[in-house]
Amino acid sequence: MLLRRGETLVRSAYAVLEGGVTPESSVGPGVLYLTNHRLVFERGHRRGRHPNSTVVNASLDDVHDVAVPRRRLRTSRLAVELTHGRPVFDVLEPEVWARAIAEAKRAVPEPTAPPVVERVTIERHVVKVRCRFCLTLAGELDRRCPSCGAPL
Ligand SMILES: [Zn+2]
Repeated sequence: MLLRRGETLVRSAYAVLEGGVTPESSVGPGVLYLTNHRLVFERGHRRGRHPNSTVVNASLDDVHDVAVPRRRLRTSRLAVELTHGRPVFDVLEPEVWARAIAEAKRAVPEPTAPPVVERVTIERHVVKVRCRFCLTLAGELDRRCPSCGAPL
């Protein structure tokens, strides 16, 4: 499996896809991968005889639920509720997988709105006062006229 930019592999294991996908012919052994972005299952474990085919390639956003249904007299399975399909895997430690998938999903950052740039315009009101002797404009806080020196 090829990792995409910014993607890291969380765990992978040999797994057997037992159903829950179409076409049914895609069930069988392969490799289950969990990355920080996706859950992927690649069918084909027979070295060199067939190119691996990607059966499940779900963004973690499309993983709605992970369950480990217990079956009487059978080992438990990993069932993944996707937007399209509900693949069921026979994999070692399905509980660990379920936890890891849930954690990876939580860690996916929510799509964020572009940051709001606050524009703050600082206006400085400069108040001028007119000298009553020479009519020069002086600053509000000036104590004396800058032109004639008269007290303001
Ligand atoms: Zn003046």
